[in-house]
This record gives sequence, C-alpha cells and structure tokens, in this order.
Amino acid sequence: MENASAQNHRKIIHIDMDAFYASVEQRDNPEYRGKPLVVGGPPEGRGGVVATASYEARKFGIRSAMSSKQALQLCPHALFVRPRFAAYKEVSQQIREIFSRYTDLIEPLSLDEAYLDVTSDKLNIGSAIEIAQQIKQAIKDELQLTASAGVSINKFVAKIASDINKPDGLKFIGPSAIESFMEKLPVEKFFGVGKVTAQKMKNMGLHTGDDLKKLTEAELSKHFGKVGRFYFNIVRGIDNREVQPHRETKSLAAEDTFAYDLTTIEEMEAELDKIAVTVCNRLQHYQLKGRTITLKIKYHDFKQITRNQSFPAGLNDLETICLTAKKLLAATEPEDKRIRLLGISLSNFGEVPVKQKEEKPTDQLRLFPFK
Ligand SMILES: [Mg+2]
Repeated sequence: MENASAQNHRKIIHIDMDAFYASVEQRDNPEYRGKPLVVGGPPEGRGGVVATASYEARKFGIRSAMSSKQALQLCPHALFVRPRFAAYKEVSQQIREIFSRYTDLIEPLSLDEAYLDVTSDKLNIGSAIEIAQQIKQAIKDELQLTASAGVSINKFVAKIASDINKPDGLKFIGPSAIESFMEKLPVEKFFGVGKVTAQKMKNMGLHTGDDLKKLTEAELSKHFGKVGRFYFNIVRGIDNREVQPHRETKSLAAEDTFAYDLTTIEEMEAELDKIAVTVCNRLQHYQLKGRTITLKIKYHDFKQITRNQSFPAGLNDLETICLTAKKLLAATEPEDKRIRLLGISLSNFGEVPVKQKEEKPTDQLRLFPFK
C-alpha cells in the first residue's frame, strides 16, 4: 500500500481515542448511550469546565474547555457527570498494552493519545496502515471503544491526519502527498499556533501553509521567534522529532500569551495569579511538589528570560507559588517593558510516586479545574 519511496522513511502512527472520557462513561453506563453527555464540572456554581463532550453533545456546539454553564445553555437536557480519572487511567493502560504488541516505541501524549514508531514492528507486518487497522480493531473488540489513527512519516503530519476522519477514522498521508497537504493546511492547525499567533499570521496575509512557504527562514524567525524555523521545515513536510518512549515529567508549567502586550505591574501580577492557579491545580492533581519555581517572560520582541528560585523542600501551595513568581517578576524591573507571555513552572520533583511516573498532563486535564 505504501509508496515505494517510503522505504527509507519512518512509519509513524498517531492514535487518538474518540471523545475518550465520554466514551468510557457511555460504555460503562448504558443509560448514557445515545445521549448528550458532558464529563466535567457541574454547571451550577463557578468554574465548572467541560473536560470531554460526547458526540451527541457536540452536535449542540458543546466543546472541551467550554464552561459547563455555557454547555448547559447550549443543551439544557445534557447530562453532566464528574470525571472518573482512575477508570480512564486503567483503560489507558489497556490501550498501551495493545500498542506494545506492535512496538515498544510508544510516546503517550496523554491518557488517550500516543505516537507509535512502527518503522520496524514486532510482528513484521511492515505496513503502518495495516498495523493502525489492527490496533483500531483490537481496541474495538477488547475495550468496546473507538480510536482514530493518522499514519505518516513524521509526528506532525500523523497527528493532523488522525483528526481528519474522526470518529473511528484512519487517514494515511504518504510522502508524495505531504507537501500538497501542508500547502492547503490552515495556519491554525500548525503546531504551536494559538489564537494570538494565528491572528498575527492572518493580519500578515498568511492563511495557509502555502502562504507560509513563501517566507524565507529568516523572515519566519524574525516574525515568530524560534518556532519560525519549525514552521519553515514543517511546511515542507520535514519534522525529525523522534518518538520518545520514556519521557517523564520533569517539570510542570503553565503559561499564557496575551492578546496585547502587558505594560503595567498590576496587569502582570493579575495574569500571574491566574497562571499560578493553573499550575497549582495541576501539581496537586499529580501529587507533585517541586523545589524550584521558574518564571518565564517573553517580551514583545520575542526576547525571552527565565528566573528561578529553589527551596529546601518541595512545595505546591498557591500562596508560595504566587508570591515567588511576583518576587521574581519584580526583580526583572518590569515597569514599562512590553510583555507578551508569562509562564510559571515547577521542577525538581525528587521522588515521583511510582504510579504517577508514566502519566503526563493532557490537554483535557490541563483545562479541568481539579477539586
Ligand atoms: Mg482524544
């Protein structure tokens, strides 16, 4: 099936479970099946957020990271349930066991998503498409869940491909198809392009990969900083990042790029408060305590600095994180500077509890306010 010229290429599969938390809930609770189901915080009260919505709920416009309150407005008869992380984690391990029949080069991105390098597979199947089909079938037969798969020669394209025919999809983008695929891709889909960067690109008349391709590497770097070089390569289908099987949590971070540059201490401190809450929730969820707090600042000209402070014992309390981040900020003399990004990270975890070792923050988890 694969193009003959693919022989020298890597074979990468990106597997992404479909509406994972909601699908597990519908599998385990027959009364939820066929209904608009929202897994997340309750819609009454403040701060409830949608972690995952079932496909029935998505028809009403409900999406991950939306407030539960808004979800209820969109679909007043939706069912709301709290997440059962222990159950999802168990299913996640079962999925990984299925992957491991084919390869040991598995890089989990979250509980429901992973890259697999099957350039050489344990069963000598040879075809990455065939392996992806078998994995999807095993997940269906053994776990009664569906997954979507993207198959290509690099991580970036495989990940985009898995999203194309969701749910229960399989999409192969071979070497000869990559460049034309990338040319048509809207800039929002590019790795690392958030709302702010996407808007900046559009303001510059850059809407698709083809538009990005017209810029030189130097121009891309000038406008987008370090990641400009990545855009230059990826738009040509080049992504040499390896599938990393043993990536462990070395630090936990939260950061935010702002719609406009911050210029006053009040604004900066208010943003740091928000970022500290996010990072603190995540630390507490993963039961991690870090000894080092690092503040990251990116200025309007993309110049970036970090400042850190270490403590004798691990910590994860909001007050210390907030105070330390503000103290580190004050020491940079931020008055009258133009700041486009602030971030806080904790590192130096020391002993990580054994059961947490494999787990990494997921996009879904990141958006969920842990209680
Ligand atoms: Mg998913």
